Amino acid sequence: MTATRILVLNSGSSSVKYQLLDMRDNSRLAMGLVERIGEETSRLKHTPLTGEDAESREQNRPIADHDEALKAVAAELSHDGLGLDSPELAAIGHRVVHGGQTFTQPTVIDAAVLAEVERLIPVAPLHNPANLTGIRTAMALRPDLPQVAVFDTAFHTTMPESAARYAIDVQTADEHRIRRYGFHGTSHAYVSRKAAELLGKQPEDINVIVLHLGNGASASAVRGGVCVDTSMGLTPLEGLVMGTRSGDVDPAVIFHLMRVGKMSADEIDVLLNKKSGLIGLCGDNDMREIRRRIDEGDQEARLAFDIYIHRLKKYIGSYYAVLGRVDAIAFTAGVGENAAPVREAAVAGLEELGLAVDSELNAVRSDEPRVISPEYARVAVAVVPTDEELEIARQTYALVANQAAERND
Ligand code: ADP
Repeated sequence: MTATRILVLNSGSSSVKYQLLDMRDNSRLAMGLVERIGEETSRLKHTPLTGEDAESREQNRPIADHDEALKAVAAELSHDGLGLDSPELAAIGHRVVHGGQTFTQPTVIDAAVLAEVERLIPVAPLHNPANLTGIRTAMALRPDLPQVAVFDTAFHTTMPESAARYAIDVQTADEHRIRRYGFHGTSHAYVSRKAAELLGKQPEDINVIVLHLGNGASASAVRGGVCVDTSMGLTPLEGLVMGTRSGDVDPAVIFHLMRVGKMSADEIDVLLNKKSGLIGLCGDNDMREIRRRIDEGDQEARLAFDIYIHRLKKYIGSYYAVLGRVDAIAFTAGVGENAAPVREAAVAGLEELGLAVDSELNAVRSDEPRVISPEYARVAVAVVPTDEELEIARQTYALVANQAAERND
């Protein structure tokens, strides 16, 4: 296949993030973001990454919808000689949040796939409609080009039923498709594979706990390259303490707030998704700010940090038990890659489990994957920067290259 470029699109309800990559060397040719689509104050920021002196360009003007947004992106790419009409463009890879139980692999999008993603809207009401809009717009723009959906849930579809099912009435669960789906799967897949690479091992040969700690946060237990458990559930609300999400709470908190607090379901939804987690506990959701406040002796920030770490430790412990043997723990995303105090506190006191962090190695700042545990530690603790766009591009390219090869056979 001669075409080697992949455009990765991540379409939100009012935003589109994009990257153009060349899969010959995994290099990035351009990246950008359109935000506040549909508002007066829309903004497009485009950054070409090819020329030495390439500089970002910004458009600040109303952009009515995704169609206009994508046309504006296409024009910016054309300006850099990277247009969507280029024969070098092999496919467009779309991030799709929810693939339910149907989509276990990246999938070339056709009418049936669109219909299934649409059918899944009730379990992903915020995300799938926006992803669909992005896909339809891109298909209208380049109907002849393969468009591939890469699902956030796909990596987790290997979980056994014992991990994926909640202990609630089976009929009710099945009727409403209630089960653990998990999210951030593209990142967990990429990071667990990279962790194996870092240790000079094959993914099949190691067990890894991946801690994806960004604004959203999730943990996963990966046995021999296969996901066996993850902390997010039916929605991305369950599990770890996050920037604005509560993570695990007693489900009875919800009926208590309804009955005693007289709150509506929508109000509780906002409370748990937007006003909880670190921001609910101390008013800040940025770990840098929380650390700064702790250094100044702020008790509220200290407690928020301690609750965050306590939950993280509980998941490390439970996934250790799920896996039986752990070869590596990999920290990733904004907090995991940058916040040394979080990494240190998360494994503190777990020497009996073979876990330790070397303070000097932990303090090093780098964009490269690295081991931060001391030589003697039985489990490698690693920092592995995630790259969801590269992983989407890689999966998209692998699929279309494979199909092209099959056609030529
Ligand atoms: P998401 O993709 O979920 O929006 P990211 O993975 O980009 O989030 O992570 C964003 C978070 O990372 C920020 O809210 C902040 O808490 C944290 N973060 C980023 N840089 C640093 C840093 N240098 N030190 C500590 N935390 C950081």
